[in-house]
Amino acid sequence: MHPNPSALSRRDALRFLGLAGAAAFLPSLVGRVAAADSATAPAAPAGTTPSLAGEQAGYFRFKIGAFDAVALDDGGFGGPLDQSPWPTGDKTKLAADLAAAFLPAGSFGLPFNNLLVRMGPELVLFDAGCGTVFGPGNGKLVRRLASIGVKPEHITAVILSHAHGDHFGGLLDENKNPVFTRAQLFIHRREFEFWTGSAPDLSQTFIPAADRPGAIAGAQNYLNAFKGKWQFIAPGDKLLDGLEIIDAPGHTPGHLAFVLASGNAQLLHFVDTVHHHAISFANPEVPFGYDVLPQVAVATRKRLLDRAAADRTRLFGAHMPFPALGYVRKVGAAYEHVIEPTAAF
Ligand SMILES: [Zn+2]
Repeated sequence: MHPNPSALSRRDALRFLGLAGAAAFLPSLVGRVAAADSATAPAAPAGTTPSLAGEQAGYFRFKIGAFDAVALDDGGFGGPLDQSPWPTGDKTKLAADLAAAFLPAGSFGLPFNNLLVRMGPELVLFDAGCGTVFGPGNGKLVRRLASIGVKPEHITAVILSHAHGDHFGGLLDENKNPVFTRAQLFIHRREFEFWTGSAPDLSQTFIPAADRPGAIAGAQNYLNAFKGKWQFIAPGDKLLDGLEIIDAPGHTPGHLAFVLASGNAQLLHFVDTVHHHAISFANPEVPFGYDVLPQVAVATRKRLLDRAAADRTRLFGAHMPFPALGYVRKVGAAYEHVIEPTAAF
């Protein structure tokens, strides 16, 4: 059974696969996510009450044992639930899950979060943000870094979890020049070979067939821009003390997750193993429309979440509500995301 492939719009499909500039239209929720940034607080005349409008900080500092970490808001993506990237999901159930999480029942939003970790002398950035791929109002990562005094050239390593546009788009600026000029670049060899191979198979995704070649070209453009510079990694590799590379295939064939560990502290960055804090935890068997291997993705999601629930592991996710920290609780055959109370320390 293959549900309605038009459930994903053409422009969204192209963006997710990284075809920059494919369309100028931004879904309504993107505007909503970005709205806080667009307002510049007017200067209050002397002696009057200052405006409280203005841009959010967009960064959140925290610790993982001895490691300094920062969650960085890069923007977001969203739209109506009836065009959602869960085409096989029961829309009534998904709407009820959104409402139960105190979210609008008719629409979905996916924030884009990046993780920066200082590990000794290394400044490691997990994914590069979306850059220009998702249009104006997104691609805030470099500005967020500037807010905490970090320049792109300070980054010593960029580890790409997988080759989708919201994760690799920030590798190149608007003139297609490299952004993180001093960073070593890492990707799973399987991921690089899948996208740059002769015929990446997207037939199990819900991306309309006519859009797949263009979408693949977008991924290839960004990966090939750094041809010869990628360092290939695989699950189990020892890259840095305190960093474990976890096999998390399905969303893409070489999708990686990461465990950061220091002392007794641990964080699982599950990246795109789970996409929405209300929908995906409550409906773990429902594939995300961009999953290259949907059933493998479902199995990976359950494997990682079962382990995290049993171990009470602290979590970070690329598309969780900013600052993307939380936990998971098992509820019957499904799960519940528990947002970390970030003001508690
Ligand atoms: Zn993503």
